[in-house]
Amino acid sequence: MARIAILLSDRCHPKECQWECQAYCPPVRMGQECIVEGPNGKPIISETLCIGCGICVHKCPFDAIKILNTPEADETEIVHRYGYNGFRLYRLPLPPRTGITGLLGPNGTGKSTALRVLAGTEVPNLGHFEAPGQWAAVLERYRGTQLHDHFRRIERGQLSVASKPQYVDWISEEPVTATEYVGASGADPRPILTEVGLETKADRRLAELSGGELQLVSIARTLSTPADLYLFDEPSSYLDIVHRLAIARLLRRLGESKSVVVVEHDLALLDYLADTAHLVYGEEAAFGVISHPLPMRTAINTYLTGYLKDENVRFRTEPVQFVAHPPKLSHRGSPLVTFGALSKRYEGFHLTVEPGELSKGETVGIVGPNATGKTTFVKMLAGVEPPTEGATPAGVKVSYKPQYLKATSSASLRERLEVLRADPTFDASLFERDLVPGLRLDGLLDVALTDLSGGELQRAAVALALAHPATLYLLDEPSAYLDADERMAVAKLIRRQIERQAATALVVDHDVYFLDLASDALMVFGHPGGDHAVGAGAGPFAMREGMNRLLREVEVTFRRDAETLRPRINREGSVLDREQRAKGEYYYEAAG
Ligand code: ADP
Ligand code: ADP
Ligand code: MG
Ligand code: MG
Repeated sequence: MARIAILLSDRCHPKECQWECQAYCPPVRMGQECIVEGPNGKPIISETLCIGCGICVHKCPFDAIKILNTPEADETEIVHRYGYNGFRLYRLPLPPRTGITGLLGPNGTGKSTALRVLAGTEVPNLGHFEAPGQWAAVLERYRGTQLHDHFRRIERGQLSVASKPQYVDWISEEPVTATEYVGASGADPRPILTEVGLETKADRRLAELSGGELQLVSIARTLSTPADLYLFDEPSSYLDIVHRLAIARLLRRLGESKSVVVVEHDLALLDYLADTAHLVYGEEAAFGVISHPLPMRTAINTYLTGYLKDENVRFRTEPVQFVAHPPKLSHRGSPLVTFGALSKRYEGFHLTVEPGELSKGETVGIVGPNATGKTTFVKMLAGVEPPTEGATPAGVKVSYKPQYLKATSSASLRERLEVLRADPTFDASLFERDLVPGLRLDGLLDVALTDLSGGELQRAAVALALAHPATLYLLDEPSAYLDADERMAVAKLIRRQIERQAATALVVDHDVYFLDLASDALMVFGHPGGDHAVGAGAGPFAMREGMNRLLREVEVTFRRDAETLRPRINREGSVLDREQRAKGEYYYEAAG
């Protein structure tokens, strides 16, 4: 077991503190050089002199230090290490000969790093961070293993790799159209743009595309690049359910003849896409260990139950539990919030929503493709956007988490909390007691909101929204930027809060597992007649009917896993798929 000391460099501001880490360090006070100033003016924490007392962790005013043990992996298995007090990755995934392998694990545990190492864009330093990695050393390390051949071909330039990077927003700065960007791979861009559903946007400049459209462009370019190995880092981000399923089919087709590795947090999608998966475990920004490959069904079931037997690793204390609804429709609670027909007219878009009723204690998911008016509907109920026709319910106390989050103040969450304590509409004790541990915010309390990552900001925003006691909670895409674990945690906290407050919630999301765990009923949005200038919303419906309405459009059926009761996408044309379609049961309730 090794002790590791991590300095989160972005959070460390050595000019704005009193060097509390050093001042209070017991070995330093005994005259040992356990924490010294490094060449960049930031502390270096000696892992050999550190006694693991954790005082520096608590004293740092910016939550910039982590001290922990790596029980699971051996130092000889380090693949890559970013600096002395930096993140370290243990072991690598193995790209399949053909087919798709997935990487499933928390944020900040090295999944993107592993893909860059496989692609050869990051030469792994095998832990020797002082100098850049050398292929000769890498080949020596992997001699006699299956990765040896992989790296030898990479080194010789004999293995071509096409990658879809995690962050697609960056490509919007390239001054080209979608057609030009995809065509740069050498192939005719039109067929693939049509396949991903972008034919009408082909001539748009990248700067004019939405996040979802940039994702599709980036996937299209990767798919049309001739290569031996394809790497997709979080392909579902920003995509709606319809596009997630469409992309899944395209990737499966690619996997029939090519080697593909995919990092993905949407479990329904990953389950359908990949044949095998490596679980990744560790500690965010500190270390990550990549497990041996498991068959897909086992991988997700292991992930949900939380214990990896082969490697004696526990991911979570409580298993994630699904239930085979049919839920409460027969005994839906008493109506708590009722809304009449609503409509909103924008230049070029007209939304109509049928009247509906939200019951006490009920969480209602909102599903539908992008640009069908889900956010507009939620904004009308939040009182942020007035309806063109119809009236929103008056006198209902609302707590709202918008879809797009932007930190505008460099205050920390703790500072925000101090202000909110005086606010009678905020429950500070709920926040501290339940939401801080439930969403792992303890390590973030002293970080400037502007320094938080997308996922960290999302967790903070969800916690703040849930800590405002309300009758109606409106959460717009809370799973965006979250890893699978965090999604499950958010689903659970939403349910708990709704029950506790005898309140009701509307939750817009695209992740089927998240929706299945969080919601009792569904509202479904769409473009009637396929006309993108109109949007229509209806419901709430019981889960089964809501899913049927949604899935009928995309011709995808789900069954339930016998062991965990989680929904699983049926293979297209399989016996179950054909039977369920014939019966119109797209979201099958019984286990099987
Ligand atoms: P994941 O994709 O699983 O979220 P990443 O591979 O992106 O994780 O990063 C793992 C950790 O490695 C990050 O939390 C970050 O602290 C660190 N890291 C990533 N890239 C670099 C880099 N270029 N330099 C230093 N540290 C890095
Ligand atoms: P969703 O949340 O389902 O993706 P939105 O409610 O965000 O959809 O948007 C629905 C449609 O309304 C989109 O075509 C969008 O461009 C348009 N829209 C949204 N807000 C405005 C606005 N303030 N002005 C003009 N058009 C808007
Ligand atoms: Mg990543
Ligand atoms: Mg929206």
